[in-house]
Amino acid sequence: MQYTACVRWLGGLLLLSAMAATAGVAQTGAAPAVQAPGFRVTLVAPREGADRFRPVVAWLEGTELLDRVAAMMNGTVRLPAPVALVADECGEPDAYYRKEASGASIILCYEMVLDVVERFRRADLTTLDRAAAQTGSVAYVVFHEIGHALIDQLRLPVTARVEGGADEFAALVLSSGDRMAAYWAASYLRPLVKREDAVAAAVSSKFVGEHALDALRLSDLLCWSFGADPRSAWRYVRSGALSAERADKCPAEYARVSTVWEALLAPHTAVGALARARTHP
Ligand SMILES: [Zn+2]
Repeated sequence: MQYTACVRWLGGLLLLSAMAATAGVAQTGAAPAVQAPGFRVTLVAPREGADRFRPVVAWLEGTELLDRVAAMMNGTVRLPAPVALVADECGEPDAYYRKEASGASIILCYEMVLDVVERFRRADLTTLDRAAAQTGSVAYVVFHEIGHALIDQLRLPVTARVEGGADEFAALVLSSGDRMAAYWAASYLRPLVKREDAVAAAVSSKFVGEHALDALRLSDLLCWSFGADPRSAWRYVRSGALSAERADKCPAEYARVSTVWEALLAPHTAVGALARARTHP
């Protein structure tokens, strides 16, 4: 499978299509039993906040977001080990990748999903825009953490800071489907940048704290995403989300990021032919 096709496919899951999920979901209160290599989804039954998180669990089940991400990643990239993709209660809005003696996992906190869902529920949005905003923002967070997992599990030689690499992967995936997803993700994250100091002091969220969220990262996310389709960038320049000066450079930046990730993932694809696919489309 060509990488370009691969990322289009991945991005397609942001469109809330009726495509059937092919990865199984276990809902359990116990630690996930993960065996086979690849991403394995578990929705942990909420404990303390059962009522509070019931809509979040229903939203995750209804969108099948994690199932689709796992199925498509597993159909594209060969991991050497299992990586649990776990939605769980954390006590704070957070998301992170971790590797322990018991195995590697991505944790998506119900609190963060709830924060996203509620943020856009309050906004003056159409039903379609609200769904796109909620799905796009959660997808950005998940793909950023998957970027961390790929860098670690595949020992990818990312020379820039790891956060930048994870952002690049997330932006590439978002750019391939609904390009508004990057816009919505940046919209969700922007207020967190503005209150960065307060958040760092009051909340131990790894996603906000350790990820050193700043305005440049949001600009990068938009630039790399819209660089895939420069014709769409003017809208975001006009809204002030992207400067005109930066927008001019985005197609070249997107091309660089895309080429780098094609090369990084080429040896690890399920069909093992990303690089060949690029030269023999
Ligand atoms: Zn990160």
